[in-house]
Amino acid sequence: MLLFVSILVARLFRQTRVGRLAQAAREDDLAARAVGINPAGQQMVALLLSVVIVAVGSALRVYALGVITPRFFFFEYTLITLAMLIVGGRNSVTGALLGTVVMTIGLEGMRYVAGPDVNVAALDWLLRDGLTGIFLGGAMLGFMIFRSSGLLDDWELDAWLLRLRHRRRAERPDSPPVTAESPPPQANSLVTSDVTVDFGGFRALEGAHVAVEGGEVVGLIGPNGAGKTTLLNVIGGVVTPASGRCIAAGRDLTGAPTHVVARGGLVRTFQNLRLFGSLTVQENVEVAALVAERHRPGRPAPDTETLLRGVGLWELRGRRARELDYGNARRLELARAAAARPDFLLLDEPTSGMSDAESLEMIHRVRTTAALVGAGVLVIDHDLNFIIGICDRVYTLDQGKIIAVGTPAEIQANPLVQAAYLGSDAGGQRRGH
Ligand code: ADP
Ligand code: MG
Repeated sequence: MLLFVSILVARLFRQTRVGRLAQAAREDDLAARAVGINPAGQQMVALLLSVVIVAVGSALRVYALGVITPRFFFFEYTLITLAMLIVGGRNSVTGALLGTVVMTIGLEGMRYVAGPDVNVAALDWLLRDGLTGIFLGGAMLGFMIFRSSGLLDDWELDAWLLRLRHRRRAERPDSPPVTAESPPPQANSLVTSDVTVDFGGFRALEGAHVAVEGGEVVGLIGPNGAGKTTLLNVIGGVVTPASGRCIAAGRDLTGAPTHVVARGGLVRTFQNLRLFGSLTVQENVEVAALVAERHRPGRPAPDTETLLRGVGLWELRGRRARELDYGNARRLELARAAAARPDFLLLDEPTSGMSDAESLEMIHRVRTTAALVGAGVLVIDHDLNFIIGICDRVYTLDQGKIIAVGTPAEIQANPLVQAAYLGSDAGGQRRGH
């Protein structure tokens, strides 16, 4: 009975709001924060739930045994439980069950072999007494090294059965037409003023000032190492500046935790991709939308299908994020950020690692996706050529300082900008970093 209830609770928990957010946070803590999830809350709920189940289970066990001794509960059980999870796969409820079955059968088998019923002299050298321990340790180590996701990874029996039934019905319902409403841009602004960042003795930013109006697309360019990512980290609450402020929609967000910044309407992507790998494409977007539902009410909320179609990923919605190729993964990150209903999208080199044709297409998608949610954009690129087409204004960073601001044409003609790029290792104008 309790087993049934625990399975049900475990399985249902995954479908709940809290459960889904907790899964995202498990996949990537920083990315979760960046769309507004505060992992502490979810983890606390998950922890409490499991403590309740374990407590009830232990109480029943005590009832069955008739005694309480720490010997039964302390090390051995902890170890066995852990081994069950590792063997079965900690990402699925079916896996946990399978792990329990496999380990119980294995341990009982070992106990039998080590017991008095088996009388093979050759077995004696195998340290009969420690046989179960060897099995336990071997199973844990073996799985951790060779198959760290366990036997089943995140495969679930009920989900599989459901899929099977769906396939039998041989459906493929026509998808509803996409209605792309274009919300009016927000009348607020994002301003970072006088931001200075020191890493030890190294000054990564000095007095950097960037302003983006609602609905505006602003570029931030500069050679590698200029401090572009650092500025985004300051805005996103990942790096605390030595001085300077970051104000969005009149709210001072300087030094606020990342999830608070995201809920405040500043949602970013990462230079080195951060997706929720074992969640599907669709789930990645839905998780962000789930947070936004609560924390960003009243903001334009395109549905998941519209967003995914917007970046050309609707056909791949059932794929796991980690199976996507590089370009698609970048597009998914963009869709996920938009699903968080931002006032401002902060994109760190969305075209990095892409071919020229792909980059141009991506830039176009940035613009349409931002328009879909009525967000302003601050987009980083180290190559001016790619963002020139979509930016209203461009800031140029060099060695931590803003050296020029203007329209793309003005920036292109600016001798200071040319000098900065020529002065750097000339990698600035090349692709592929
Ligand atoms: P980019 O413009 O290429 O994005 P970054 O903002 O990543 O440049 O980095 C700016 C400079 O700050 C680089 O010289 C980098 O080495 C340095 N830097 C960035 N993050 C850190 C850190 N956490 N600790 C020390 N130095 C850092
Ligand atoms: Mg960078």
